Amino acid sequence: MIKVAFRDDDLDVPNPQFLTYHQLMQEYGFPVTYAVIPGRVSEEDALFFRRLKQHAMMNFTQHGWMHTNHGGKRKAEFGVRPRDIERHEISMGFKRMNKLFGNDFLPLFVPPYHAYTMDTCKDALDAGCAGWSAKDNMPVIAGMKALNAHILFDSYSDGGHSFLPAKDVIRQFLLYSKRVSTVIFLTHHKKIGEDEQKEFITVLQFLAVLRKKGLVTLTSFSELMCL
Ligand SMILES: [Zn+2]
Repeated sequence: MIKVAFRDDDLDVPNPQFLTYHQLMQEYGFPVTYAVIPGRVSEEDALFFRRLKQHAMMNFTQHGWMHTNHGGKRKAEFGVRPRDIERHEISMGFKRMNKLFGNDFLPLFVPPYHAYTMDTCKDALDAGCAGWSAKDNMPVIAGMKALNAHILFDSYSDGGHSFLPAKDVIRQFLLYSKRVSTVIFLTHHKKIGEDEQKEFITVLQFLAVLRKKGLVTLTSFSELMCL
């Protein structure tokens, strides 16, 4: 049985794209781990998200601090500036997540743009993050549980954004399911418009069929962190 988990990035405001995405995932009964931008979420919106969690399978994790690009062409929030500044921001982000989300904050760090150094990992660990999620095969320091995403719906090559067709996502899933026991998908709700939604729903339907056949089980980052 293959375990499947979803991570969705860049949560800050409950905009229509978020609400549509959230509703869709709840309809299918798929848990989602949201990577929240601590410096961009208001107290009021955090409360809104936490209220949703009372009736939904959701996790909230830390996605950097402000999600600001300090890296120029090679986008990065961390791993590119003096360490004391970055360390301070990681700590501020952690504290803000704790304050706004309390027990609903899962202490796992998602580096914006998947850009970081081992110092970033160390600083997140020191701040209190016990888990780490970047892309498949990216490194993490000892002491942190790695939950890297395997399959990315979004592609940013050639300077633009494109959404992977469902058939390509499914092909990747079938390949991964032969070599790992847990497959993690990464989405960006802000990038799912009408056209993308059709492709996305095809993937959800495919996974729902596998679940019905007992070949796949849906899991959450909080469950995986307990392993
Ligand atoms: Zn992001």
